[in-house]
Amino acid sequence: MYFEKIAHQHHINYIKHIDNEVTQYKVLPFQDPDRNHFDERNISSGRIQFLIFHYTELNFNDTCEVFTNNAVQNRVSAHYVIPENSYEYVRFVSLDQRAWHAGVSSFASHQNLNDTSIGIEVVNAGLDLQDNIQKWQPFDVIQIDLCGKIAQHVVKCYGIKPQYVLGHSDIAPTRKKDPGPLFPWGYLYKKYGIGAWLDEDEMDAAAIQKKYHPKCSLPSCLDVDFFTAQLQVYGYSVNSHNYLDCLMAFKAHFCENGLNQRISKQLTYDDMFWIWALNSKYA
Ligand SMILES: [Zn+2]
Repeated sequence: MYFEKIAHQHHINYIKHIDNEVTQYKVLPFQDPDRNHFDERNISSGRIQFLIFHYTELNFNDTCEVFTNNAVQNRVSAHYVIPENSYEYVRFVSLDQRAWHAGVSSFASHQNLNDTSIGIEVVNAGLDLQDNIQKWQPFDVIQIDLCGKIAQHVVKCYGIKPQYVLGHSDIAPTRKKDPGPLFPWGYLYKKYGIGAWLDEDEMDAAAIQKKYHPKCSLPSCLDVDFFTAQLQVYGYSVNSHNYLDCLMAFKAHFCENGLNQRISKQLTYDDMFWIWALNSKYA
């Protein structure tokens, strides 16, 4: 119902479908071509392999406006938008078309991930002023459960690897911070089997060694070169210029996830353990 009002206001046509009390709206193509924020996928880039999560920084109404306006430049979109506290979501772009959510991006030697990804925007203010302090804004459980269900569908449909379910900051670490450290990757893994994560019994080096027999062992002290090489193996496009951005993207996704604080710029032994353990499990 929430989207219906907005759709009416912005002259957006849609198809409505209700399944298990969740309402999905599929936006229909516009006659004005400038309002269609998508194009054809570049076949030479290969099949769909990535699922990318974002936060909007805008409210739902403004997101709908931005994704359907007839601006000539800087048009953006995503396949899905998930509003706050609502059992409804909108599919703005058909999955076989290319939405414009990733921008300049790379991961695991793939460039410009719009070609090979599905994008989900979660309505959330991101890092926002609260009592004069900038704080990450929490996601609500309803929208995260919708993320989990949509992600299950997308991952199954395209056979997406767990480690290729990523945040915008993982694929564009210098430009982007979304979906931020409060996006609950661990919860999505535990409840929906979505993304890469470590199980409870994989939280120490001896357990990883025993279970996965990794090719290299975890160094006994902090080692920036080891960490950087492991980030690269995992898929991060890390180099001497963006090392700090990659470190912070990794922390936000994994070892400092769930902490409502500024991401630290120091490499810790926890970071070393997580990247080594994830590579042992998934690479
Ligand atoms: Zn984004």
